[in-house]
Amino acid sequence: MRAGLHVILHILVPGLVARFGYSANRLHAFLWMMGGMIIDVDHFFATPMYDPDRCSVGFHPLHTVWVMPIYIGLCIPKKTRPLGIGLCVHIVLDLFDCAWMTWF
Ligand SMILES: [Zn+2]
Repeated sequence: MRAGLHVILHILVPGLVARFGYSANRLHAFLWMMGGMIIDVDHFFATPMYDPDRCSVGFHPLHTVWVMPIYIGLCIPKKTRPLGIGLCVHIVLDLFDCAWMTWF
C-alpha cells in the first residue's frame, strides 16, 4: 500500500503544483515536473532494483545530497524551473517515504 501511495503522490503533487502554481501552460509545467521522475533510473544500478525497506535518499546516486544543489539551482531560471521543482518534489516525497518506513 505504501508503494502505491508513493507513486500516486509522485503524480498528484506535481499536478497540484502545476494546477495552483501556473496559470498558463499548466500541462507543459506538469509534464516537465513529471520529468523529475527520470532520476529513478538510478534504481537500475542497485541490487535489488527496488527494496521497499531501503531509503532512496542518500543511497541511489541521483538521490544523494551532492546532486541536490543542481536540483535547487534548476528552480532559479524560469525556463528550467518546472523540472527543478519536479526534482525537488521528487526528493521531498522520497524523504517522506523514508520517514514513513522509519516511524511506522
Ligand atoms: Zn526517487
